[in-house]
Amino acid sequence: MNIAIDGPAGAGKSSIARLAAKKLNYVYVDTGAMFRTMALYFLNENINPSEEETVTANCGQIQITIEYQNGEQHIFLNGNDVSADIRKEEVGRQASVIARYPAVRTKLLNLQRKLASENDVIMDGRDIGTVVLPEAECKVYLTASAEVRAGRRYKELTEKGIDCDLAEIEKDIIARDEQDMKREIAPLTQAEDAVLVDSSNLTIDEVVEKICELAKGASK
Ligand code: C5P
Repeated sequence: MNIAIDGPAGAGKSSIARLAAKKLNYVYVDTGAMFRTMALYFLNENINPSEEETVTANCGQIQITIEYQNGEQHIFLNGNDVSADIRKEEVGRQASVIARYPAVRTKLLNLQRKLASENDVIMDGRDIGTVVLPEAECKVYLTASAEVRAGRRYKELTEKGIDCDLAEIEKDIIARDEQDMKREIAPLTQAEDAVLVDSSNLTIDEVVEKICELAKGASK
């Protein structure tokens, strides 16, 4: 049984999918972390993510592995645990740039499908219900207004003591949505058979509950 959760940046997909996975006893797979890990490699190697040819030529240098420690996904870049490093804003921005390239997407697609074939997964990303797991038994398109998403991100960063600007965050979120929705390959879009959940006025627990209900309905 596979559950696909797609939606724009900051809709709360990862927090919600992680909690739902615990409740349902599924493996949580965060595919955004995979694109971030590839972006981190290019940043570390001083390769400009905007240069598709160079990025494509270097994809073979990257080995990504996933391990689960106490139910949490840890991601390794050529053997090093980069789970914390990939959370930086810059890495997320560059992930969205390289996510447009076929070589990057093909490499990650194989890893994603392998994980889903070996486990009951709840997988979140942008193209899970449309491209990665079109046969998923349960699909959710999770969204919220750009204003709400920016406000949540601002709160999260401020709580961590990171200095940031709300208007700047909202601008970034809108730019990332646009880039993810307008790309040629695997753009962010709601699958025809996905249930739309707008979390703008819902608590995390309410959304988790909704997803668990949908999953239970789908498994009957
Ligand atoms: O969700 P997260 O912010 O970690 O994703 C980073 C970027 O990776 C997204 O903006 C998107 O461009 C890309 N991505 C993707 N397909 C996925 C997951 C993430 O293109 N399934």
